[in-house]
Amino acid sequence: MQIFSAIEAASETLWDVAVIGGGPAGMMAAGRAASLGARVILIEKNHSLGKKLLITGGGRCNVTNAEPDRQKFLAKYKDDGKFLASPFAAWGILETLDFFHTRNMQTKVEAHQRVFPVSDSSQSVWDVLVAYLRESSVTILSDATVTGLSTDESNVTHANIRGGKIIRAKSFVLATGGTSHPETGSTGDGYTWLRTLGHTVREPSASLVPIALTEPVKDAAGVSLPDAKITLFQNNVKQAQSRGKVLFTHVGLSGPGILNMSREVDELLKYGNVTIELDLMADMGYEKVNASLQALFKENSNKVIRNALRTVVAPALVPHILSRTGIDPDTACHSVTRDSRIALMKTLKHLRFEVSHVLGSEKAIITSGGVALTEIDFKTMSSHMYENLYIIGDLLDIDRPSGGYSLQLCWTTGYVAGSSAAASVANKKNK
Ligand SMILES: Cc1cc2nc3c(=O)[nH]c(=O)nc-3n(C[C@H](O)[C@H](O)[C@H](O)COP(=O)(O)OP(=O)(O)OC[C@H]3O[C@@H](n4cnc5c(N)ncnc54)[C@H](O)[C@@H]3O)c2cc1C
Repeated sequence: MQIFSAIEAASETLWDVAVIGGGPAGMMAAGRAASLGARVILIEKNHSLGKKLLITGGGRCNVTNAEPDRQKFLAKYKDDGKFLASPFAAWGILETLDFFHTRNMQTKVEAHQRVFPVSDSSQSVWDVLVAYLRESSVTILSDATVTGLSTDESNVTHANIRGGKIIRAKSFVLATGGTSHPETGSTGDGYTWLRTLGHTVREPSASLVPIALTEPVKDAAGVSLPDAKITLFQNNVKQAQSRGKVLFTHVGLSGPGILNMSREVDELLKYGNVTIELDLMADMGYEKVNASLQALFKENSNKVIRNALRTVVAPALVPHILSRTGIDPDTACHSVTRDSRIALMKTLKHLRFEVSHVLGSEKAIITSGGVALTEIDFKTMSSHMYENLYIIGDLLDIDRPSGGYSLQLCWTTGYVAGSSAAASVANKKNK
């Protein structure tokens, strides 16, 4: 495996296969094509590969689903399952498991047939894939953002890289993913290019929905925090962070900051309990909050704390904050102890709530949208419009449930595209 620090060198080569997007689908496609002898470059805009893969399954990675009956498995993709019979005949669950097992990653089956690495770490999956790329001599071009594809009438000729360079290849595999967790690199770029090329792309729909809490602060319904820091935790491990407006409702939390994180919450809930932490003093560190509380209590030394605190926190939220901290609301400010003040500071910085569910999640489709399936040849994963273009993974408009079905789609479509891209190059050489 060669890592090009400069795009110059890579742009001087005519590659057999260029894979765009180093997520699970792209890594599988690149490794497979290279293992068949193709000269493969994998182009990734991040510095490292598989950033989203590492956060899957709450950091444990639900690799696939061990449903032994292929028909039952495909039925999980509902109507879209009929498109998948051919690729799954080439590479299904058993092949996927065998792939990981023979590379020393043992797996275990949990509830609902969900398969996880025995290590309980998505890093194990990442390690296997990166080793696969290394052993099959894939060239990785990281920190390289593709800005679009250029074509002639029936083929993609080159990928344009930010900065002006191009990558030429005989075949292109597109694996840029969908739009969820954009901080991992999945910003929907591939959808834009495919639309420009004439493909039908169903707009990925964001499921922005309020969140119900197990213990909503009903008395604070209507209170809005203009710019709270919102952090999601699972098993006490930080999963995501953002800032924005938060609104307390009768059932839980809403407001743009929460709505924008609802997809992540919904995804995480599939793997266990989720806690939302609000930092009500996001612009101040511990010391500053402590100092401002000290000043507040000094200024209002003869007032009771429930009244004094109203200048810092929305009045409807004050009783909840004090009850959480274990401070009697009628305590005079001059008798608030140091320990109580520190505890209050921690409550204000780390106001945690356990999520019950995401409202409307029964109906919401998490990542919905993508390239129309009728425009893909599922025997090869190639586009019907451009014969040397292959489209895989989350780019496809396939609805699926949680439980390992998304990643299995990546393994299967990645394998088939890698095989077909390499075979088509070999066929052309032999002619
Ligand atoms: C929180 C969370 C947990 C999940 N857990 C599971 C789970 O346990 N099991 C499961 O089956 N599924 C899970 N999924 C879904 C799964 O992660 C996706 O289906 C899968 O990552 C899709 O893989 P992909 O290769 O198609 O795209 P992605 O993983 O999105 O990878 C696309 C890659 O392309 C790169 N890229 C994008 N644009 C460009 C560009 N212009 N130039 C160069 N590179 C570019 C990106 O940086 C990225 O590395 C989870 C999803 C989320 C959000």
